[in-house]
Amino acid sequence: MSKQKAQPIVYLNGHYVVLQDACISVLDRGFIFGDGVYEVIPAYGRNLFRLSHHLDRLNNSLNAIRLKNPHTPEHWQQAIKQVIEKNSYDDQSVYLQVTRGIAPRDHTFPDQGSPTVLIMTSPLEGQATEIVKHGIKAVTLQDNRWQHCHIKSISLLPNVLLRQEALVKGAQEAILLRDGQATEGSASNLFIILDDCLITPPKGPLLLPGVTRDLVVEIAREQELCLKEQLISETDLFRAVEIWLTSSTKEILPVTRLNDKIVGNGKPGPYWRQMINTYQAYKQALRSGHYQ
Ligand code: PMP
Repeated sequence: MSKQKAQPIVYLNGHYVVLQDACISVLDRGFIFGDGVYEVIPAYGRNLFRLSHHLDRLNNSLNAIRLKNPHTPEHWQQAIKQVIEKNSYDDQSVYLQVTRGIAPRDHTFPDQGSPTVLIMTSPLEGQATEIVKHGIKAVTLQDNRWQHCHIKSISLLPNVLLRQEALVKGAQEAILLRDGQATEGSASNLFIILDDCLITPPKGPLLLPGVTRDLVVEIAREQELCLKEQLISETDLFRAVEIWLTSSTKEILPVTRLNDKIVGNGKPGPYWRQMINTYQAYKQALRSGHYQ
């Protein structure tokens, strides 16, 4: 007898339902306008990674689009934990989205209506051994997004097109350039090692304040590495001996090829190795319940 695969369970507007039964109206403003925000939160051993940081960023994104947060932090935590418990993997990537809800199609905000809230999860894989061994290829592309990249908006068409262009060019990620400065990746934050210092662009409206970025900065401070939060020029990006891209699901990716150039000696570098070891130890501690 074939074993039945457990069906994914999601949270939609207060109800826990099987993924294929989760339905929203075609008039939802998320569907019509991309009018909403989201978060992606990893869970290791079903323990949430930096939940309060993610919920703070969600709140900032909601404030920025003038949408009232539909839930208290306690409600968010409870709903997210329930979804994690109802799904069958120990390591999960939680996706949550809030849109401005259902209304007749009109650009201005509806007078009334309630937001649509979705929480779903997917299995989370660790870093592939290929990446640890060889790193990834990135290409530089012009950052043609809007001026509010600190908002984690679901309107991701520019990011989607940039990532696809990178893929067509044989790369896994795009490093974005705006006015001669490298801002971030299409779905990741940027770090470089140059002259024995770890450098990352400062937070501001032109990049997403990554939760992984903050942890890497914290670890660098704890380890008393030379750390600078400053702009990275295109010239410095190409002079870097190590380049890393960080995100909740991809962790810390070493970039070993940039356009047609080899970065450093073409292998993930020693600074990356030290950082990823500490990062993995943090994950392991989280898995065993250390940060609860
Ligand atoms: N920048 C962009 C544009 C992103 O989409 C992401 C990931 N969603 C990040 C940075 C990294 O953020 P985090 O570390 O919180 O996943």
